[in-house]
Amino acid sequence: MKTNVQILKFGGTSVGSGERIRRVASIIANKVHDSGEDFPVVVVSAMAGVTDQLLRIALLACTGEYQECEIEQHSLKQKHLDTAKNLLLKNEDRYNQLIDDLETVFSALQQDIAELQVYASKALIYELPLRTAAVAAWGERLSVLLVTAAVCNSSGINAVAIREEAIITEHLVSEIPQTPGTVIGAEPLTEETRINAQRLVHPMINRHIVPIMPGFIGRTTTGFVTTLGRNGSDYSASVIGAALDCTEVTIYTDVDGVLSADPRLVANARLLPRLSYAEAARLSWFGAKVLHPRTLIPIAHLHIPVRVRNTFRPHSRGTVVGPEKTQRSAAAAITVRHQLALITVENTDMFGAPENAGQVFALAARAGAAPVAICSSSGYHLSFMVEEQAADSILALLQHDMGTWRVICTRGLAACACIGSGFSVDPMSPARAITALARERIPVITQGASESGIILIVEEKDSERALRCLHRDLIAPVIPLVRHGTQERQREAR
Ligand code: ADP
Ligand code: ASP
Ligand code: MG
Repeated sequence: MKTNVQILKFGGTSVGSGERIRRVASIIANKVHDSGEDFPVVVVSAMAGVTDQLLRIALLACTGEYQECEIEQHSLKQKHLDTAKNLLLKNEDRYNQLIDDLETVFSALQQDIAELQVYASKALIYELPLRTAAVAAWGERLSVLLVTAAVCNSSGINAVAIREEAIITEHLVSEIPQTPGTVIGAEPLTEETRINAQRLVHPMINRHIVPIMPGFIGRTTTGFVTTLGRNGSDYSASVIGAALDCTEVTIYTDVDGVLSADPRLVANARLLPRLSYAEAARLSWFGAKVLHPRTLIPIAHLHIPVRVRNTFRPHSRGTVVGPEKTQRSAAAAITVRHQLALITVENTDMFGAPENAGQVFALAARAGAAPVAICSSSGYHLSFMVEEQAADSILALLQHDMGTWRVICTRGLAACACIGSGFSVDPMSPARAITALARERIPVITQGASESGIILIVEEKDSERALRCLHRDLIAPVIPLVRHGTQERQREAR
């Protein structure tokens, strides 16, 4: 009989310390022991901060700063050894085995760093993306060892670390030289990944062993280790989930679910119990870090739900993202996407040929950049947002290839997105959003609309204030604390 499986994905903060990994192990154990739950397949991120550290190591290796590179490696190793000690203090055999496994990983990492140094010193720049990915991939492999040891150590659960990459991707080619110390995301291949993931996981599930797999990483068809891009472990969880025909993907993180705004910026952000795929996709595209923007791509057409839950409050129900349309009367959430530039292309000849949007976007694609949003378009004019870091190369191509067209670029912008199906239901919502910003004297540079909401382009320096006032006026008013003056207190005392 086929066993139904669910994916449990734990993010970097969830595996950020020995104490936290123990909580993760107890969530996994509860799922295995609960007969009402489908069998868990676990996908984990690197410990919080570790991928940043590995990329710093890669950068130092490329720039020839070998001493600093060694210091970083030492601190990375110490962090994992300390965590191992914290986890398995009372089980000497298991602890020794884990230390052996970690040492093996650290020597392999050292080899990959040495190779990267050689390629960088020979200025083989087109080799650097693959060599950098090889270094960045070790964070997830290290945390897989820690989580597996913690699960096996608790409540008699049988778990195994999957050491091969489950996701198969296209070969990674980059036509643009890569900035040292960064990774490019490779594209997963559905059929190849399906065969490979099932080959790795099914024998474990049949023996009731919980597979614990590294998120974020894959292997190219040409045999190189690669990554799905920064913050890509949510995406890897849904790619693996689709490959295993799972019933649900749960993203365990450090907040209660998807909220009406980033709780780090808005104190009274509300939990959204349900979101449609379309709403969640817009939210993550416009900056809600809680879900990677590609997470829903592999599973939405299969109608597999995604649940977002808090590792540290496992009883909170979280947010379910699914195929059903939600019934709302207003905006559900406000997000901000930072570091954008607005590119405007205008025909200087009023009677010349109408704009050629196809040509403009083809040039943008050649510069390696998809527009983040298209703001306005008329016969002789087109304006769209791009990531600021891509603006220079797009600008150069447009100026070179667009003849008489005038190309203008405004940098230092951010997009505030008011998202939710309710936006199209309530015709006053866009007006309320603009009024909210006007009241705070925040200029709107331009705007764009769709049936799931509107985006308002503001200057970067105004963006967080804009987010707060939109949230206050469209979603959750802030009730001011009433301070009683001395006279009032005296009056009350009488
Ligand atoms: P993980 O380490 O689990 O992958 P991330 O840091 O990638 O976690 O994502 C979780 C963070 O996303 C939260 O701590 C929160 O600050 C941020 N975030 C941004 N927007 C939202 C939102 N709308 N709802 C919930 N969290 C959000
Ligand atoms: N560890 C990877 C990163 O930090 C992937 C992830 O955590 O989502 O980019
Ligand atoms: Mg994340």
